[in-house]
Amino acid sequence: MSAYGVLALQGDFASHAEALRAAGVGVREVRHVAQLSGLDGLAIPGGESSTLLHLMQAEPWFDGLRAFHARGGRILGTCAGAILLAREVVSPAQESLGLLDATVERNGFGRQADSFETALDVPALGGRLEAVFIRAPRFRALGPGVEVLARLGDEPVLVRQGGVLAATFHPEIAGDARLHALFTRN
Ligand code: GLN
Repeated sequence: MSAYGVLALQGDFASHAEALRAAGVGVREVRHVAQLSGLDGLAIPGGESSTLLHLMQAEPWFDGLRAFHARGGRILGTCAGAILLAREVVSPAQESLGLLDATVERNGFGRQADSFETALDVPALGGRLEAVFIRAPRFRALGPGVEVLARLGDEPVLVRQGGVLAATFHPEIAGDARLHALFTRN
């Protein structure tokens, strides 16, 4: 059975673990860099990216995650997780992994009052997907190697670059494991 991890430092990791289990893979919570070893993929949940960055200072997470990606480990980043994956983060600028060729604007859809839920058309999933946007970031610029899997109006909200899948929304809340299944088949 494939083994997937969920970065469990902060944020909505329990729902991601549940969605991955529903997608049919083995799942473990990852709290230390060494636990990346042996995993096929890792989900980085939404939460608060600045808090996540702060917590990640305790161990060499950046080196570990870049090495994980370089050896073919898949990464799903949702909301704060997508911010962490970006090449560049703005408003405000902050450190990021640079594993997704994108500029990401934090809170690009507005503050907490502007959180909303909507159904997205995701052809790669064969239909509609309930998406919850919570203080969501916005993809501002995507490199040529980045494929857009879903848009909200004109805005890309779900993108893929090789083994990296990134969503500006929370796909794990609505109890639908199709995106996690796509991630594990990617
Ligand atoms: N606004 C948060 C941030 O900048 C992300 C919100 C989320 O993950 N739901 O990190």
